[in-house]
Amino acid sequence: LSSVSGPRVCVVGGGPAGFYTAQQLLKARQDALVDIYERLPVPFGLVRFGVAPDHPEVKNVINTFTQTAHHERCSFHGNVNVGRDVSVEELRQAYHAVVLSYGAEANRPIGIPGENLSGIFSAKDFVGWYNGIPANKELCPDLSCETAVILGQGNVALDVARILLSPLDTLKTTDITQHALKALAGSGVRRVLIIGRRGPLQIACTIKELRELVNLPNTRAEMLLSDFEGIKETLKDLPRPRKRLTDLLMKAVNGGEDKAEKSWSFRFSRSPVEVLAGADGKRAAGIRLALNKLEGSGENARAVPTDQLEDVDCGLIISSIGYKSILIDPAVPFDPRRSVVPNDMGRVQDTPGLYCSGWVKRGPTGVIATTMNDSFDTARVLLQDMETGELDLSIKKPGAQAISALLQTRGVRTVLFSDWEKINAEEERRGKPHGKPREKLLDVEEMLQIAWS
Ligand code: FAD
Repeated sequence: LSSVSGPRVCVVGGGPAGFYTAQQLLKARQDALVDIYERLPVPFGLVRFGVAPDHPEVKNVINTFTQTAHHERCSFHGNVNVGRDVSVEELRQAYHAVVLSYGAEANRPIGIPGENLSGIFSAKDFVGWYNGIPANKELCPDLSCETAVILGQGNVALDVARILLSPLDTLKTTDITQHALKALAGSGVRRVLIIGRRGPLQIACTIKELRELVNLPNTRAEMLLSDFEGIKETLKDLPRPRKRLTDLLMKAVNGGEDKAEKSWSFRFSRSPVEVLAGADGKRAAGIRLALNKLEGSGENARAVPTDQLEDVDCGLIISSIGYKSILIDPAVPFDPRRSVVPNDMGRVQDTPGLYCSGWVKRGPTGVIATTMNDSFDTARVLLQDMETGELDLSIKKPGAQAISALLQTRGVRTVLFSDWEKINAEEERRGKPHGKPREKLLDVEEMLQIAWS
C-alpha cells in the first residue's frame, strides 16, 4: 500500500460517522488511503455502546462498516486516544486531510441542587452500564425503588424506560450485559415517569420508539388528561410526522393492559429544580419539579417556569437531557457554547485540511441515517477540496507509517481490525451458552490480551 501515491486521509473515531466518511472517500477516489483511529480496542461507537440491546436490526450497519474496514485501502487502528497518544497536529503533518468524527462522549449536567446525591445517573452512564462500556461496568444502580424518573423525552429516554420495564425474557437473548440482566431480574421498579419541559406537541422521540413503549407487555400508560387539553383540535394542522406521533400519543393515553403490573407515563411542562434527599441526606428520595407554561407554539415553543412546584417521590433518577462533545486537543477550534467543532459544511473553521462529521460536527441529535448523510456531505466537501487544489496533494505524506512509528516510541500498541475480530469471536463464543449474540467484554485489559494473543 505504501506504493499507492494518492491522498492519505485519516479519520478520528470509529463510530458511524468515521466509517461512513471513510466509505465515501474510498468509493469516490480509487487512489485514496484511509486510516481510522479509534480510542477503544473495539470499533463502531454508539452502534455497540448506545443502540439498545433489543434493537438488533439497527446494529446491522456493522456489516457495512466491517466491509469498509476490510477494504484494501482502509486500515483500522484501535486503542489510540487522539489528543493524548497522538496530537491532531501530528496527524495533520502525516496526512493530507484529517476528519474529526469522535462523537459526543460527555453528558450535559442537570444543573440543579442535589444532582450529586446517589441514585441519580446520566442516561449516558446508565446506557453504558447495560451496553457494556468499560468505564461504566461498576455503576451498580440500585433498582430496589418502585418509581423511577427519567428527565427528557427523546429516544434515549424511551430506550431507558423500555429497558427498565421490559419483560426479562425479551432481554435475555439480546447482547445486554449479564450484570445488567441480573440487576434487572431483581428490580423493584414498577413505575416510570418520563418528564419533559414542554408539551405533548414538542415531544422529541420518534414514532418507532414510542410505539415500542405503547406495545410493551404487562404495562399500561398513566398520563394526566389535563396535559392533553386542546391537543385534539390542533391535530389536523400539524405537519405529517408530528401528526402521526401525536395521534399515537393520544391513543396511548391511559392505554395498555388493565391488569398490568407496571406503568409508564409522560409528564409534560415540568422542569427539575431540585433533587430531594432521603432521611440519610445521601440518597435521592424525590425530585422537585417546576410547572412550566409554554410561550409560542409548535416546534419553537418555549417553556417558562411558573412558581408552582410539584414533588415526586422516586428512588432512581436518570437524566437524559443530551450528550455533548468535548475538546480532545487544545489546538482544534471548539465552540464551548454548542459543544461542537465549529465548521462550515464539515470544513473546520480556520484550519485548512481539517474536517469533521457526525455528532461532533452537528451536535448529538439524529439517528444513524442522519449521521450517514452528514458524513457523506463532509466526504463530498473534502473530495471537492482535493479536486480544486484547495488541498495540496503534490506533497507526499507518510500517513500511518509515520504515526505508527510515533505511537511505538510512546509505547502505544494499536489494535488492528483483525485483532478486533478475535475479540468479536470470543464475545460470540461467550454469548452462545446464554442464547445471546454475544457477551461483551467489559475490561479493556482483557480485550487487549485477547486481541494480541
Ligand atoms: P459515535 O457513535 O459516538 O462514535 C464516535 C467514536 O469516536 C467512538 O467510537 C469513540 O470511542 C471514538 N472516540 C472518541 N474520542 C476519541 C479520541 N480522542 N480518539 C479516538 N477516537 C475517539 N440511532 C439509530 O439510528 N437507531 C437507534 O436505535 C439509536 N439508538 C441510540 C441510542 C443511544 C443511547 C444513543 C446515544 C444514540 C442512538 N442512536 C441511534 C444515534 C446514533 O448512535 C448516532 O447517530 C451515531 O452513533 C453518531 O455517530 P458518531 O460517529 O458521530 O458518534
